[in-house]
Amino acid sequence: MAAADDRSAGALYVVATPIGNREDLSPRARRILAEADLIACEDTRRAARMLAGLQIRTPRVSYFEHNERRRTAELIDRMRAGESVALISDAGTPAISDPGFRLVRAALDAGIRVAAVPGPSAAIAALSVSGLPTDRFVFEGFPPARESARRDALKALARETRTIIFYESPRRLAATLAEMAAVFGADRPAALAREITKTFEETIRGTLGELCDRFAREEARGEITIIVGGAPEAESGTLNESAGGALTVGELIDAGLSLKQASAVIAKLTGQSRRELYQRELARRDRGEDGE
Ligand code: SAM
Repeated sequence: MAAADDRSAGALYVVATPIGNREDLSPRARRILAEADLIACEDTRRAARMLAGLQIRTPRVSYFEHNERRRTAELIDRMRAGESVALISDAGTPAISDPGFRLVRAALDAGIRVAAVPGPSAAIAALSVSGLPTDRFVFEGFPPARESARRDALKALARETRTIIFYESPRRLAATLAEMAAVFGADRPAALAREITKTFEETIRGTLGELCDRFAREEARGEITIIVGGAPEAESGTLNESAGGALTVGELIDAGLSLKQASAVIAKLTGQSRRELYQRELARRDRGEDGE
């Protein structure tokens, strides 16, 4: 066995499983699941179906949102006693919008080795085929279900320049796309990846306005990941110069303008709200930060 998978001491393996296509389970994941003393799974019945197909008979315990706290203590005790535990979620990578973080944290705190057995994750799979910039991105998981909280969360991202990844349920898709179009702008490029690696896999690319129109008419089905292109740099509070630099409110103040004048100039040049620029600069000063 490879050194990284040494089972002489207790360990926690965070094992990614397929998000639709069974062939995406790696040989190493399969071996770790077969050799572990215990598999902690989000849903034991769902796991039983997958493991039966692989002829894996490793004992299982449930590990899900509502028993995470209690189970974590039990699993830590077993790993301290030298057992190896493989953690899986219903699909994809555990701890990514799935249970697992608490167990990983507790294992690390207890000095137990934690090893990744990497594999599918819908977020990365969707990003990789989105056609949107992949060099810098942020993962937001599921937007809040409540409308007002969702709008606030989206507003907070309006000036995010990195590509943004969201999970969303088909039930809320139309409402979320409408809000995204309202907050980020209908022209913002986006991609919607549905049922990745499954029979009805499809990636729809277009603007948020186009996606919004389509799903206002069409019922959304299956598992969905939304990728939204980042805001153009000019909307993020800086002004790009052809030389590649960025002019900011702070820099104009350093050059001798008042806060009011600097906010007005940047507002005029970038189309942003003068008031917001003014207040952002004040907030930055309150936090004791230097100019942008
Ligand atoms: N931990 C998982 C991962 O790493 O992919 C994500 C778990 S999260 C509870 C499930 C959400 O991921 C779904 O509601 C959907 O938004 C997205 N998702 C999962 N499988 C997908 C697929 N095959 N195609 C598109 N999105 C998917």
